Amino acid sequence: MRILAFDIGGTFIKYAICDENFNLSDKNKVPTEAEKGGQALIEKIIDIILSYDDIDRVAISTAGQVDSENGIVVYSTDNIPYYTGMMVKKLIENKTKIPTFVENDVNAAALGEAKFGAAKGENDFICLTYGTGIGGAIFLNGKLYKGSSSSAAELGHMIVHAGGRQCTCGGEGCYECYASAKALISNVNKVSDKPLDAFQIFEKENIEKPEIRSEVDKWIDEIIIGLINIIYTFNPPLIVLGGGIMNEDYIIDLIDRKIYSKLMDNFKNVNIVRSKSGNDAALLGVAYEAAKLK
Ligand SMILES: [Zn+2]
Repeated sequence: MRILAFDIGGTFIKYAICDENFNLSDKNKVPTEAEKGGQALIEKIIDIILSYDDIDRVAISTAGQVDSENGIVVYSTDNIPYYTGMMVKKLIENKTKIPTFVENDVNAAALGEAKFGAAKGENDFICLTYGTGIGGAIFLNGKLYKGSSSSAAELGHMIVHAGGRQCTCGGEGCYECYASAKALISNVNKVSDKPLDAFQIFEKENIEKPEIRSEVDKWIDEIIIGLINIIYTFNPPLIVLGGGIMNEDYIIDLIDRKIYSKLMDNFKNVNIVRSKSGNDAALLGVAYEAAKLK
């Protein structure tokens, strides 16, 4: 079986061929051109699909909240204009006649971690990704928990500071305003004498500066506040942290050193690990589900 798997983000569409053993090959990346809107985006996806021969299934991981049963984007922020309501599965199947599975990107990554990655064999775990915002996925009893309108696990919008920073969701004081990679970059650049990106912040010459180190440590404390709320809500055995920034050992080490002393004793069994499948988790997660389609 050949599955064409896509991961649609705000900046790039990544795609690859996945075989029946869930090996990825022929990896590609094109700009999303999100500003052109949802319709143009799906037309671009269809053009890519039609440029291949012998595709048996299409698998799509995408930004936005997704009703995966019907393959509809039920809500998307203005990062991709006119994407809300897009009947992705129907549009693709009508044009290509290939069975298609669609899921939200963090849920897709959680599926990938559950089948192939850091949560392999786990029935219950929580997945969080730290980037421009913070995405979440809740995996319970061996499957994703989707909520009453396919939108559960918006963990980035837990309110952690009442009356705090203005968030893109319309609320104030949301977790992602304080603990996303974007928040770190913004905080550090207020004290740095030169502009730094996420990776430069953790370079020795920068992180060893006290003013930068202090901002990084405060940011990690913000990460921990959100994790504690989640741990007290779900009492999970496992939390998987994703997003490119989590590759920095400094972050996971400090979380590990600080969080357990803050937790009530009977919650300390939680294991906090990094995503294992990284960027491939979402592609593998949707490919796995697409393979099951009739
Ligand atoms: Zn928010």
